[in-house]
Amino acid sequence: MAIKKPKIRELGEAIRALVKGPFTTKFPFEPANIIPEFRGFPEYQDDGCVRCGACAEVCPARAIEVEEYKKDGKSFRIMRFRYDICLLCGQCGALCTTGEGIEYTNKYAKNTFDRSEAIQEVEDELVECEKCGKVITTRRHLEWIAERLGEKAFANPTIVLAKHIPMDIADKEEKTRESCEFNREDWYKILCPDCRRAAWMKENFQ
Ligand code: SF4
Ligand code: SF4
Repeated sequence: MAIKKPKIRELGEAIRALVKGPFTTKFPFEPANIIPEFRGFPEYQDDGCVRCGACAEVCPARAIEVEEYKKDGKSFRIMRFRYDICLLCGQCGALCTTGEGIEYTNKYAKNTFDRSEAIQEVEDELVECEKCGKVITTRRHLEWIAERLGEKAFANPTIVLAKHIPMDIADKEEKTRESCEFNREDWYKILCPDCRRAAWMKENFQ
């Protein structure tokens, strides 16, 4: 079969490559030349992330894991980014609760022989219902909500108490999880939405 003659354009490219060097990059031996606007891996921002877990709910690759554990009587939540399975779709950053929890970098590769290098973790203490022990959310998340609500936060004692406990203003009495009988004093406790509703019903209709 006869070899086709190169077109003028291809001939021009070949001459240019001879003078300027190859058009392709030497990645992974050298970093690739990427445009500054390239949206690469997302990264947690420690100050902007309240550890609410919303980004894990929307991640199509399940590249964000949420783990909760107890230590010394307190509960904690770890948010874990798995770069090794991230698709760079950008959903986590686009739907972040605070809008400041995730920043896109222009990193495009996480080549490593050590998988732990492709993982980023952030952590915070969890706030639990003082009545039933159910996890409400993280302390940072409640503080962020209180900040946004301003003086309206005083309509919900859970938000106000959760914000003030670190300042040693609110009571730190022992949790009473055994009993689900609601009394007037329960109104001024940190309660999950279900217990808050039950306390409100008791206060107003019984
Ligand atoms: S604040 Fe944003 S980044 Fe942090 S856990 Fe919530 S949704 Fe994810
Ligand atoms: S960029 Fe997409 S795949 Fe990667 S962590 Fe965010 S939501 Fe998940």
